[in-house]
Amino acid sequence: MNAKRDYYEVLGVDREASPEEIKKAYRKLAHQYHPDKNPGDRSSEERFKEIGEAYEILGNPEKRATYDRFGTASPGRGFEGFGGFESGFGSIFDDIFEGFFTGRAGRTTRGAQRGADLRYNLEIRFEEAATGGEKEIVIPRMESCHACRGTGAKAGTQPVTCRTCRGTGQVRYSQGFLTVSQTCGQCRGEGRVVEHPCPTCRGLGQVRAERTVTVKIPAGVENGTRLKLAGEGETGVRGGPPGDLYVVITVKEHPLFARQGDDLYCEIPVSFTQAALGAQIEIPTITGRVTLKIPAGSQTGSELRIKGKGLPNVRGYGRGDLVARIFVEVPTHLTAKQRDLLEQYARLEDGAGSPLVQGFWEKVKAIFD
Ligand SMILES: [Zn+2]
Ligand SMILES: [Zn+2]
Repeated sequence: MNAKRDYYEVLGVDREASPEEIKKAYRKLAHQYHPDKNPGDRSSEERFKEIGEAYEILGNPEKRATYDRFGTASPGRGFEGFGGFESGFGSIFDDIFEGFFTGRAGRTTRGAQRGADLRYNLEIRFEEAATGGEKEIVIPRMESCHACRGTGAKAGTQPVTCRTCRGTGQVRYSQGFLTVSQTCGQCRGEGRVVEHPCPTCRGLGQVRAERTVTVKIPAGVENGTRLKLAGEGETGVRGGPPGDLYVVITVKEHPLFARQGDDLYCEIPVSFTQAALGAQIEIPTITGRVTLKIPAGSQTGSELRIKGKGLPNVRGYGRGDLVARIFVEVPTHLTAKQRDLLEQYARLEDGAGSPLVQGFWEKVKAIFD
């Protein structure tokens, strides 16, 4: 805040202005800078406040006389009664721009309030997603204070009706031509105040607590699934219902399996002789090993589907498959004997055994020759 400007300057009148002129100047400026007409404009808001302050003093002959003499309305004691006016203004603005001044604490709702929803990120192993199960998680949340049963008042005492607003939660105040109903600053609109705060919760009625919650993980749950646990969020205020707890599941990746829907994909490397001659090999599944027959002549990218060895469908519609994707490995280190045998084999190659190779060169020939 800047140092206070001269009130005459604020209203744009000279020091000899009549009460009528002051009133007229105030009305004009108050209309111009009224927050309803300048929503979200901070400088207008400041200006409107300043205009109100100036008129509070200059519009009152006694205060004006004091101000003229001492440069302040209440010499020696600061602006008496002025603090209330100012803080009152804060509340008016709260009401006008509800949800805009996010920095201000204290809701103005009187009645029961639903507790906040909570979110918990739960990371599980791939196998846990496959089988499902239960997991215990610890949730830090606000709970109703046991010592005062949520009232915020010290044991043996009760919150009392607010004297400022007589329990209505609203006070009316008129300022010049404006009459405004505003939230009571004393009780923050609740109509009741705690005179002797509960020592456990310091009058809040709520305490921070850790609660263990069991989460049922459905078999086949997917990464990013959001599970809703109704009523496990924060406790409501003044008897309001609790919020909900949302558990967001992150499934860790598996070193062997990749998921696609309910199917699992696993890349299976085979030697080039296994691919050429066919073989029986053991491959992993999510629940253990199974024997897989590699047909003779399998290629890199060939897919072999093993029914029912995928993941259970999360809605209970059976199970997916395991798809073994073949990858043929060409040997990189040959012994002299292996090399000799392969050279013998190469001399026996007649092309008919390699349809892809043959087909490719036929295409090349058709284009270029
Ligand atoms: Zn009150
Ligand atoms: Zn308490």
